[in-house]
Amino acid sequence: MTQQITHSELDEVVKRSPRKWVYLFSEGNASMRELLGGKGAGVAEMTNAGLPVPPGFTITTEACNSYYDSNRQFPEGVWEQVKAALAIVEKQTGKGFGSKENPLLVSVRSGAKFSMPGMMDTVLNLGINDETVLGLVALTGDERFAYDAYRRFIQMFSKIVLDTNPQDFEEVLERYKHEAGVKTDAEIPAEDLKKLVGEFKQIAERASGQPFPTDVYQQLHKAIEAVFSSWNNKRAIDYRNFNKIPHNLGTGVNVQSMVFGNMGNNSGTGVAFTRNPAHGEKKLYGEYLLNAQGEDVVAGIRTPSPISKLEQELPEVYQQFLEIAQRLEKHYRDMQDLEFTVEKGKLYMLQTRSGKRNAGAAVKIAVDMVEEGLITPEEAVKRVEPSQVYQLLLPRFDEAEKRRAEQEGRLLAKGLNASPGAAFGKAIFDADRAEELGKAGTPVVLVRPETSPDDVHGMLVAKGILTARGGATSHAAVVARGLGLPCVAGCEGIRVSEEQHLFRVVGSDLVIKEGDDISIDGATGEVFAGIIKTVDADFDKETDLKKLLGWADGFRKLGVWANADYPRDAKRAVTFGAQGIGLCRTEHMFMEQERLPIVQKMILAKTKEEREAALEQLLPFQQSDFKGLFEAMVDPQTNEGYPVVIRLIDPPLHEFLPSYEELLVEVTRLETQGGHEAELAEKRQMLEAVGAMREMNPMLGLRGCRLGLLFPEINVMQTRAILGAAAELEKEGKKLHPKIMIPLVGHVNELKEVRRQLEATAAGIADDAGKPIDYKFGTMIELPRAALTADRIAEVSDFFSFGTNDLTQTTFGFSRDDAEGKFLLRYVEGLEEPGLKDKVKILPVNPFQTLDRDGVGQLVAMAVEKGRKTNPDIELGICGEHGGDPDSIEFCNEVGLNYVSCSPFRVPVARLAAAQAALSRAEKDR
Ligand code: ADP
Ligand code: MG
Ligand code: MG
Repeated sequence: MTQQITHSELDEVVKRSPRKWVYLFSEGNASMRELLGGKGAGVAEMTNAGLPVPPGFTITTEACNSYYDSNRQFPEGVWEQVKAALAIVEKQTGKGFGSKENPLLVSVRSGAKFSMPGMMDTVLNLGINDETVLGLVALTGDERFAYDAYRRFIQMFSKIVLDTNPQDFEEVLERYKHEAGVKTDAEIPAEDLKKLVGEFKQIAERASGQPFPTDVYQQLHKAIEAVFSSWNNKRAIDYRNFNKIPHNLGTGVNVQSMVFGNMGNNSGTGVAFTRNPAHGEKKLYGEYLLNAQGEDVVAGIRTPSPISKLEQELPEVYQQFLEIAQRLEKHYRDMQDLEFTVEKGKLYMLQTRSGKRNAGAAVKIAVDMVEEGLITPEEAVKRVEPSQVYQLLLPRFDEAEKRRAEQEGRLLAKGLNASPGAAFGKAIFDADRAEELGKAGTPVVLVRPETSPDDVHGMLVAKGILTARGGATSHAAVVARGLGLPCVAGCEGIRVSEEQHLFRVVGSDLVIKEGDDISIDGATGEVFAGIIKTVDADFDKETDLKKLLGWADGFRKLGVWANADYPRDAKRAVTFGAQGIGLCRTEHMFMEQERLPIVQKMILAKTKEEREAALEQLLPFQQSDFKGLFEAMVDPQTNEGYPVVIRLIDPPLHEFLPSYEELLVEVTRLETQGGHEAELAEKRQMLEAVGAMREMNPMLGLRGCRLGLLFPEINVMQTRAILGAAAELEKEGKKLHPKIMIPLVGHVNELKEVRRQLEATAAGIADDAGKPIDYKFGTMIELPRAALTADRIAEVSDFFSFGTNDLTQTTFGFSRDDAEGKFLLRYVEGLEEPGLKDKVKILPVNPFQTLDRDGVGQLVAMAVEKGRKTNPDIELGICGEHGGDPDSIEFCNEVGLNYVSCSPFRVPVARLAAAQAALSRAEKDR
C-alpha cells in the first residue's frame, strides 16, 4: 500500500527527467547488476525477498558514466530524483532528513558491477550536524552514541569527500583515549566526545579551507560526487587493470538509511561467509563485534569474535542470521559473503555477494552443491577456474613452518614466480652433482646463474630450480613448468658463483654454500634459508576434483593428451586423465649421459658407414625408450594403447656437441700448456667440426625434417626403433597406435620425400612382425608456409600437430631464445613514454604463453580448413605450451581441433578448460 503511493512520487520526477537515474531498493533485483552495481542489485534482491534491509535507493552506474561525460556535473534529473527517493525513504522510516526531532541518517555506498572490495568509498552516518545530533540524543537518550556517530561522520566525510589526511584524526582520537584512560573508542565518555567533535571539525576546516558543511543536502550531494569520483581513484584503476575489469562500467551509489551497531551490547556488526572460503566446509564462517559500526571489524582496532560465539551472545539474532544465510545461499545458488548489523537486538542485512574462495574451497563447494541438488554439474564445471585446478595439484609449504621461517628472518630473496609449487633441498650448483645426489635420494634444489639443455639431467632429479637470471619463459622456467617442478627464476637478490659453488644474498653478508638447505616457493618467488616442509597434493585423494573433472569430460569436445618424453611422465599423465601422448621429443633421449658420446660419434662421422655404425649402437636404447613409453600408455584392462605421437629428431645437431667457445678455450689452454698431444688433436678435430656446423640462425637452419633429408639414416633408425618397439608389444597381445611426426616441414616435397624413405622401412618392420601395425605419418605445422599450403601437405599427412611455439616464433619473427629477455616482456609490460601518463603497451599478453588469435591463430584456422578440405579424415591437434593455456584451449575448441596436448601437470587444467570452452560455445550458439 505505502509502496504504491511512494513509487508514484518518484515516477512523477522521473517523467520530467531524460532518464530514470534512481531506483528504490524495492524496484531493483539481482539481474540488474550492470545498472545498479553488485551491491545495489544485492540489497534490492534481499529487500524483495522480504529480508530485513534498511530502506534506501540506488543511483545507477549510467548516472556515474553520464557524470563523467558531462565534465563531472550531475546529469539533468539526478538530483531531483535523489530528493524524491529520499522523501520516500523518510516515509518508510518515519524519520526526516535534517530533522531536529527524529533525524534520518544515511550511508552513501559505492558498488560496481564487479566487486572491488575496499577500492572505492563509502560514507556512513551522513545527515548529522550540530542540530540533528541533539535530535539523536533526545531520541535515543544516549549522548555517547550520538556524538560517537557524529565524530565518525566527520572523520569519514573528511577523508573521503574533503580528502584530508586520516592520520590527523587518529592522533587526536588516540590522545582522547589516553587522557580518558581507556583502550577502545567505545569507552570514550560522552563529554569528551563532544569536545572531540569540535576538534575534528577544526581539523577538517583547516585541511579543506572551508567550513564543514552543516546543510545535510549539501553533505549528501558532495558524498555522492565523491563516490562517483572514487571510480577513478588510483587504487580502483590499478585494481581494474590487474583484474581485467573494463574501465567504462561506472559505479552505482547506494543511499541507505542507517542502522546502528554501536548502540550498546545488544547491537553489533559483522561479516560472514555461508561456507568456509579457505577449505569449503559447509558451515557459517565469519566474525563480528558488539557495540561497533561497520568499519570497526576490518579496522583491526578491536579483535572481533568468531561468528559461532554470537550463538551464545545473541542467540535469537544468531538463529535468524543463520536462516537468512542459508536462504540467501539457496536463492543465489552460490556461497555468499554477507554483511550485517544488529541494532538493539534487531538484525539487518546490509550486503550479499558471491564470496571469494581459494582453490580447494572452490572445488569442494562446487561439487558439494551439485550433490546437494543446488546446482547442476554444468554449473559446477563453469564455476571453478582452471588455474585453481593447477594450484591444487602442487606441493605447498606447511603454513605454520613458513610463518616460523619468516619470523626467524630466513626469507632471503624474491625472484620471478616462474613455475608454481614449493620445494626444499640442498642447494647444489651443478647438474652432474645434482644428478648424483638426486639419484641417491637426497632432495636437491639446483641453483644456477641460468640453465641450458646441458643442465637437464640435473633438473630431472631436482626438487626445484632457482636461477639468478632469465625471465618467465627462460629455459629454466619452461623446462620446470614442463616437469611440474617449482622454479624461481631471475632472482636478482642473489649472486651465484659457479666456481665457488655458493650464492650470496645481495645487500647482506649471508652466503648459501653447496649442501646448505634452502626452500623455494615457485608460486610466490620466495627463497628461504633452511627447510620448510611441504605438503604434497595427491591427485588420487582429490576426490572432489576428480568428480568435477569427470563431469568436465562429459562436456568437452577436445581430447586432452600430454607431452611426455619419459615413461614416468606418461604414467603420470594417464593418472591425470590424458588420453594420449601428443608429443614425445626424442632428442632428450639422445642427451642422456651414456648415449651422448655415441650421438656425438654419429654426428661427427665422416662417412655414411661410420654414421650407420653409431646409429646401430643407438637403436637398442631408442627402442627400449619407446617400448617403455608405449607400455606406460597401454590400458592394462583392455590391452588397448592410447595414441602416441613421436617426433623425429628436431634440434640442430650442434646442440649435442660442446659449444664452440668452450672448445676454443680448451684448445688454446692445451696449446699453451703443451704435452697433451692426443687430447689436443681430439679437441682440435671437434673444434673444426663444430666450427663447420656453426650457423648464424640455428633456429632457421639445419634442423627438423631437413636433417632427415640430408642424413636419412637417422630417421630410419628412429622409425625402426619406434615400430620395432610396437611390434614387440603387439606380440604380447597389446594394441598399439604409434604416430610418427616429421617436424618443421615448410614445403610439401620435404614431407613427401621423408615419408617415402620411411614408408619402406615401416613396411619392412610390419612384414617382419607378421602383423599389421597401425602406424601413421604426420607433420607439425610450425612454419607459416606450411599453414598457407596445408591443403597440399594434408595430401601426404595423416595428422597435423600445431607446433605453436615455433609457429609464433616464425610468424612474429621473434626469437624464442632471446625475445623475452630483450624486448618482449617490455612489450607486454608497456614502455615508459615521457609526457604520457600510461605506459604504452605493444602487446596485451606474451604470445608464447597465450596464442595470438589475430595473427598466429589465423594461420592455424587456415591450416585446419585447408587440411580438412583435401584430407577430411586428418587428425588435428596442438602441442607446445599453448596446449595447456585456458585461453588458447578455447581457441583450439573454436577452430575445431581434435585434441590439445600439454605437459602432464596441465592435463587436469586442460580437461576443465576444454569443458568450459565447449559449454560457452554451446551457450553462444543457443
Ligand atoms: P565496502 O564495499 O567497502 O564493503 P560498504 O558500502 O559495504 O563498503 O560499507 C561498509 C560497511 O559500512 C558495511 O559493511 C556496514 O557495516 C556499514 N554500513 C553501510 N551502510 C550501512 C547502513 N545503512 N547502516 C549501518 N551500517 C552500514
Ligand atoms: Mg561491504
Ligand atoms: Mg618446433
